[in-house]
Amino acid sequence: MRIALVLLLALVAFVSCSCAAPGPSISARPFGGCFLYTLENRNGVRACITNYGATLVSLETPDRDGRLGNIVLGFRDLDGYLGEHPYFGSAVGRYANRIAGGRFMVDGTAVQLATNNGPNHLHGGINGFNRVVWAAEPFLTSFGPGLRLRHTSPDHDEGYPGEVEATVVYTLTHDDELMIDFTATTTAPTAVNLTHHSYFNLDGPGLRDVLSHEIQILADRYLPTDETLIPTGELRDVKGTPFDLRLPQRIGDRKGEIVGPQFAGGYDHCFALSGYGQGAEPFLAARLRAPVSGRTLEVWTTEPGLQLYTGNFLDGTIVGAEGVHYHKHAGLCLEPQRYPDSVNRPEFPTAFLRPGETYRHTTIYRFGAE
Ligand code: BGC
Repeated sequence: MRIALVLLLALVAFVSCSCAAPGPSISARPFGGCFLYTLENRNGVRACITNYGATLVSLETPDRDGRLGNIVLGFRDLDGYLGEHPYFGSAVGRYANRIAGGRFMVDGTAVQLATNNGPNHLHGGINGFNRVVWAAEPFLTSFGPGLRLRHTSPDHDEGYPGEVEATVVYTLTHDDELMIDFTATTTAPTAVNLTHHSYFNLDGPGLRDVLSHEIQILADRYLPTDETLIPTGELRDVKGTPFDLRLPQRIGDRKGEIVGPQFAGGYDHCFALSGYGQGAEPFLAARLRAPVSGRTLEVWTTEPGLQLYTGNFLDGTIVGAEGVHYHKHAGLCLEPQRYPDSVNRPEFPTAFLRPGETYRHTTIYRFGAE
């Protein structure tokens, strides 16, 4: 373990730039039994990522006065991530979001997955990709510093067929973007739907909730769900509903119109992104703006769906890195992904992966201030 740490620190020293601060640089330090990598671009934007769950622990970006501050919910130490938490900063897999009854068919064979969300399978099951230790490799490119994380998910992991090799590559670019490239291959036909699950609060976690943030989601349709949050199969026009976020809208303004205990008074919906299907390049999916700090966030992706979850089930019991309680709407998730339950909906963009194919997904979170 000690030798591994020395080698790792030598590697990190190798990829660190010796020029005057700020970066670009990468450094690493022990984080419980894992490591915490700090990536810094040449503007001083910093991302801390642990190889436990390929998790984004903190992300510091400037506000309109140039003051750096963390904008994602998380914990100070590994113990927080080892305990129960709702996927703060996690890499989610093998399958982000829900699969009805944890069941689907692959080539005529029934698959039964672990169920961990009422009757359904959620975010890869009981021990999903957020609860494993990934192999990490820091690197430095002309775009900015990065971290490549690899994980081999064994055959029958949480009930899924096939051994899956997954990689998550974080690059913190000099254009102030956190670019996340996901890939996966499999030894047998299976389902793959990876995403990133940060809870953003552009005013800084714990100070105020996100209800005053303005959001825009470039989607003409969304996916209505049943009481267990499984899509009904309909792609419904957003016009005249609280899901019409095509023009910027304060999150708090229409959330009261979202009824049903499963939503606990907020958004927890997948939007069918209008930019999908026009090529392989990431397209603009959403914008977020916090009037208090002036910080902005754009989400670009190659995926068809975007789950907006406004932290409806945060109830103040979790104490985050700042030593404050995370209350309802303390942060919000913008999770690009295949639609929920796609494996049971042949009419949805496919989430099946076969041997010889490579699953690819790129999402870019771009930061600014105004
Ligand atoms: C889901 C929510 C869930 C949360 C935490 C989100 O991605 O949409 O329904 O409560 O993750 O698990």
